[in-house]
Amino acid sequence: MRSRRRHTWSNWAGNVTDSAETLAPRTPEEVAEAVRSAAGEGRRIRPVGSGHSFTAVAQADDLRLDLHHLSGIVSADRHTGRVRVLAGTPLRVLNQALDWLGLAMPNLGDIDAQTLAGATSTGTHGTGAGLPGLAAGIVGLRLVTPDGQERWVDESDPELFGAARVGLGALGVVTEIELACLPAYRLRAVESPDELDAVLPRIQEFFDAHRHFEMYWFPGTRRVQTKANDLVPDEVDEPLPEWRRRLDDELLSNTVFGAVNRVLAHVPRAVLPFNAVAARALSQRSYTAVSHEVFVTPRTVRFVESEYAVPREAVADVLTDLHAWVERRREPISFPVEVRVAAPDDIWLSTGHERANAYVAVHQHVRGADPTAYFAAFEEIVAAHAGRPHWGKLHTLDAERLSTLYPRHGDFVALRDRLDPDRVLANDYLDRVLGP
Ligand SMILES: Cc1cc2nc3c(=O)[nH]c(=O)nc-3n(C[C@H](O)[C@H](O)[C@H](O)COP(=O)(O)OP(=O)(O)OC[C@H]3O[C@@H](n4cnc5c(N)ncnc54)[C@H](O)[C@@H]3O)c2cc1C
Repeated sequence: MRSRRRHTWSNWAGNVTDSAETLAPRTPEEVAEAVRSAAGEGRRIRPVGSGHSFTAVAQADDLRLDLHHLSGIVSADRHTGRVRVLAGTPLRVLNQALDWLGLAMPNLGDIDAQTLAGATSTGTHGTGAGLPGLAAGIVGLRLVTPDGQERWVDESDPELFGAARVGLGALGVVTEIELACLPAYRLRAVESPDELDAVLPRIQEFFDAHRHFEMYWFPGTRRVQTKANDLVPDEVDEPLPEWRRRLDDELLSNTVFGAVNRVLAHVPRAVLPFNAVAARALSQRSYTAVSHEVFVTPRTVRFVESEYAVPREAVADVLTDLHAWVERRREPISFPVEVRVAAPDDIWLSTGHERANAYVAVHQHVRGADPTAYFAAFEEIVAAHAGRPHWGKLHTLDAERLSTLYPRHGDFVALRDRLDPDRVLANDYLDRVLGP
């Protein structure tokens, strides 16, 4: 396996860079060989997916393991829905392949650019009161541990299975994942403009009434947009007219929104009034499509993001406090706040570990006003509700604080000590959130 020269790598948002040497193994055996020789030479190595984490979780300071060659479906059983997938498969490739097999992921987040292992390793989730994050759909995975040994991990090894599904790339390199998929299904999406005061008091009811429910609130206003997705029979086909899809998703959400954000970066005082105009421009729309097309939206406008999970019953308090802070400070925040929900799971470092959560996400345009004060105020608000940060989204918590939020944090650290005593897979982010 040839290594590529050092070049500057950057994550999607452009806020994390490094210049590590890159290895691009073509097979799981080459992955094991790369890890073994890094360990033997006393070097550090980091697996990387699509670089869609906002935190430095994927940053490499010595060697980077780029897994884009490990892409595709290894085997599939259409009757049981069990599908084995190579770890570097981008979700958009996976969704298409599952479509052809008549299968689908039970849930997805907003985008499909992540790799399967990258998404599951940080606890990526979608929305749905009855649906946990993507990693909860893993029934087994092939792991190359830091000593370069390969092993299959499933519920027969509850400790490692509990830890490795959301492993932050700290316990080994995942080369293959077996997923429990569903028969392909169609959804109707109903998107409606509304008032915060009307939705917030009933948000628990809305969470429970729909297979998927999410809300976008426009800071500086009391306007929201809700999106509810529910199952429809296969024969129901009421697509959005192509012109409407292009106008809403490509033009208004991306092209115009991007241009406006570039202008607003120079006139911060115009941001909140612009939100009022943008929120008023939203209109009702409804359409049906195959599940992954309903979940995923193109995102071409670059932003930075922080997201916390709070017990779902705390969501109204969090939004009320955040609204009060924005009103007080009038910070120029040009992106809506996203609110979602998810079911609990049993994965050690999952934000959903044994807790039904609401997720609140704050964003700021990459060239917009400095988000430090906004994100800090948000962190202070969610801290009062034992908020757990998304591992791939900006936060400032360290191992000491995280150990109070995740009951199995200490067990994860102990397992890491056993599997990676020499810290072959470490980086600065892991040192902060797990300890050196
Ligand atoms: C525009 C945008 C939208 C997003 N939407 C959502 C959303 O809706 N819901 C949500 O929860 N999150 C969302 N995210 C966050 C994103 O899903 C996560 O940060 C995810 O981890 C990114 O996947 P990736 O393939 O880019 O992985 P990377 O960011 O490259 O890596 C993430 C972690 O996975 C590890 N890793 C990668 N491959 C392997 C492997 N083979 N073995 C072991 N470890 C590995 C890396 O070491 C690193 O620790 C979004 C991010 C962006 C930029």
